[in-house]
Order: sequence, then structure tokens, then C-alpha cells
Amino acid sequence: MSQVVIIGAGPAGLTLAMLLAQRGIQVKLVEASRSFQRTFRGEALMPSGLEAIEQMGLSDVIADIPHRALDAWEFIIESRRLFRVDEPMEPGGKPCTLISQPAFLAAVLARASQCPNFEFIDGTAVRDLVWAEDRVVGVTLGDNRSIWADLVIGADGRNSIVRQRANLDLDREPQSYDILWFKLASSQPFEAENIFYSVLAGSDGFGLFLGSEGQLQVGWSLEREESAPADKAWQQLDWVEKLATASPDWLAAVFREQADSLEKPFLLSVTVGRAPRWHMLGLLLLGDAAHPMSPIRAQGINMSLRDAIVAANHLVPLFQQSSFASAALDRVLPQIQAEREPEIIKVQQLQRAEIAQGELLRNYPLLRYGASRIVPSIPFLQRRIRQSWIDRQLQLRRGITSVSLTV
Ligand SMILES: Cc1cc2nc3c(=O)[nH]c(=O)nc-3n(C[C@H](O)[C@H](O)[C@H](O)COP(=O)(O)OP(=O)(O)OC[C@H]3O[C@@H](n4cnc5c(N)ncnc54)[C@H](O)[C@@H]3O)c2cc1C
Repeated sequence: MSQVVIIGAGPAGLTLAMLLAQRGIQVKLVEASRSFQRTFRGEALMPSGLEAIEQMGLSDVIADIPHRALDAWEFIIESRRLFRVDEPMEPGGKPCTLISQPAFLAAVLARASQCPNFEFIDGTAVRDLVWAEDRVVGVTLGDNRSIWADLVIGADGRNSIVRQRANLDLDREPQSYDILWFKLASSQPFEAENIFYSVLAGSDGFGLFLGSEGQLQVGWSLEREESAPADKAWQQLDWVEKLATASPDWLAAVFREQADSLEKPFLLSVTVGRAPRWHMLGLLLLGDAAHPMSPIRAQGINMSLRDAIVAANHLVPLFQQSSFASAALDRVLPQIQAEREPEIIKVQQLQRAEIAQGELLRNYPLLRYGASRIVPSIPFLQRRIRQSWIDRQLQLRRGITSVSLTV
């Protein structure tokens, strides 16, 4: 029997597995896929996530994998620049950095695998939980194997099977959009300076940046009704022209020049919410399994890394004791939720506020007109709007609570 079995080798599950294994705890990590190269994994890390990585002793990992710091953020409305903010936003601070998540996960796995008390089981999904009365005591895998453990940790992402099998609720926030993701070949203006562009034209909006592996990445927000499985209209569109039409001339030229390299878009469904309860006897949820995060302003990976640190702080002392008492574990699990929940609530609230700002501009043509024509010509107003955006970002960048690895 292992002490801990973790389900899901995303940022939450894999870093926690490494931290526990490095501290002598018996850990099994189960991952459904055989490779980290799934079609899409987020790649923007905020200073809060970069600090978490530093605390975990993984800064050299970032240095060794494909990564790219952002130089600036720029907002373009109706083809005109509303404002630009350079990185890093805080003097002496860290810039938002794009990392190759598959390479990062592979490197963390290599670190964890150095520990003899760590086992990685990949290519098979967890199908169900094993119970002893009202306590979770293990999991069953797709290949019918069972694994018993003192603690099962569900870090299996936003559609968590662990959460569903444990009958833990998820309070979902209503979402009005999903994301269509595209990749295309890079182009000179982006090589010179990596700017994250937020582009709005009419009710169309997208984000664009040069990803860690040197391709341009575009996230187009698609109204929820348009992304319904029955509605295939988006698959038939001429996306080069659609993107070019929403862009200022110089960017439209990039899309047209790189038209042949534009990959078919794929749909990423956005789920946002929070489980009212992240734990039950013998079981804990972390990362998106407990609180699926919106993609806006790149928070999810950062929150998952910070969840892993707080969980390690609480679990390591308990599992390092010579005799294990489940009563002590039962006391610790609510403490992990209590320590992490305030930050998650606040960050999700800030993300909602960011989305609301965007929706206001999308829904009110007069406001868009003012933002694109009037604001840029009145420097004082432009400075005020820019500063108010920076002020809102600071908490999203630093995190809300103090998180330090103490074990
Ligand atoms: C379009 C989009 C863009 C985003 N961009 C960013 C960004 O740039 N920066 C950022 O910080 N956040 C971003 N996010 C959010 C971020 O992707 C998530 O919040 C983050 O990945 C959560 O990490 P996690 O470890 O909890 O779960 P995940 O990364 O989802 O990992 C879960 C793992 O569990 C595995 N798994 C699932 N089910 C099972 C099972 N039954 N058995 C075994 N294994 C299983 C999966 O294969 C996966 O590897 C984005 C989200 C979206 C939708």
C-alpha cells in the first residue's frame, strides 16, 4: 500500500508528487495519457507561479526548456492601439513568462523519478474509487488494477473523474464563451518583441502571442452557442480572412503572409467553478479538479503550483511520522482547503471582472468607438485607463495570499 496516490500529472499533480517523493513519502502518480504532448496545455506563468517554481527548486528547469518572457501587453480596439504596458510591470519584478508545459512536466517527472519511493503509471485512466465504508482507500484503473493508499489526491483537471466518483459538487460559473485555439508560423514583428495582443473588432475578439516553442498562438473567443456540437459553422470559416479582418493592417498582413501555416483551430471548452468541498475521508481535490480556472490572464497553472506547495506543507509532516493516524489526516485536509480557498475565490472574482470589462466593450459599440477614437487622443485619459488596468493586474500577478514552501 502506498501512502499517497495522485491522479493526474498536470502541474498540480506532478509537482506535488515530486515534493512528496523528495521528502521520503511513498507516492504513486497515475496519468491517463502516454505523453505530455496533448494538443494544448496553457503556457503563461505569472510571477506568482514563477516564484512557486523557484521555491520548488525548479528554476534551472525553466532555464533548460523552451521559454520566452513577454515584453509587453497591448490592447487594440477597432484597429487602434488603446494602450501598451511593458513587462515586468513591477520594478525589479519578474516578467510574465511563456514556458513549454510538456517540457516542464517531463523535467519535473525526471526529478520525481530520481526518488525510489516514486512510481509513475501512465497510459491508463482512473475509472473509479475504492471505498471502505465511508472512506476512500484507493482507486481502480482502466486496466482493472487497483491501487490502495492512505490518501487519494484528485488532480485530474476540470472534468475530474475523482470529483465525480466522490460525489463532490462543483458550483459552475455560467460561461458565455469557449476558446478556439490556432497556431501559425512566427513573423518578424513578433521575433523583435513578444507582445501579448488583445484585439477587439466589433463583437470579435482574440488574444495573440509568440509561444515558447516559437509559433504564434491565437485564442479566439467563440460565443457558447456557436461552439455547441451541433453548430459546425466555425469549422467552415475562412479563418485567415476572419482574423485579418479583425486586425490592424500590419497584423492582417502577418495572417495573410503566414496563411499556409495556419493550423486548423481546435475548440477548448471553458469550465470555471469551485467545489464547495475539496475533501472527504481519505480524499483531496487540488488544482482544476477543485476549482477549474478561466484562461483569462493566465491563472490556472499558477494556482495549481501554489495548491501543491500548501498541500505539501500540510501533508509532509503527517506522513513523515513513524505511525500514521487517519484521524490526523482527516483534520489536515480541511485545513488545506481553508488555506487555499480565499485566494481562489478572489482570483476567480478578478477574472470575472476582466471578462466583464471585455464584454462591456463587445456589447456597446459607442463605448468601443470612444475607446478606439477618443481615448488615444487624450493622453491624460489614456494614462488613467492604462493605470487602472495595471492596478487590477497586480493581484493577479503576485497572488493574493502568501505561499511559501516550509517543508
Ligand atoms: C484555453 C485555455 C488556456 C489556458 N491558458 C493558461 C495559461 O496560459 N496559463 C495558466 O496559468 N493557465 C491557463 N489555463 C488554465 C490551466 O490550463 C489549468 O488551470 C491548469 O492546467 C490546471 O492544472 P491541473 O494540474 O489542475 O490540471 P490539468 O493541467 O488539466 O492536468 C490534469 C491531468 O490529469 C489527467 N487526467 C484526467 N483524467 C484522468 C484520469 N481519469 N486518470 C488519470 N489521469 C487523468 C490529464 O490527462 C491531465 O494530464 C488555460 C485554460 C484554458 C481552457
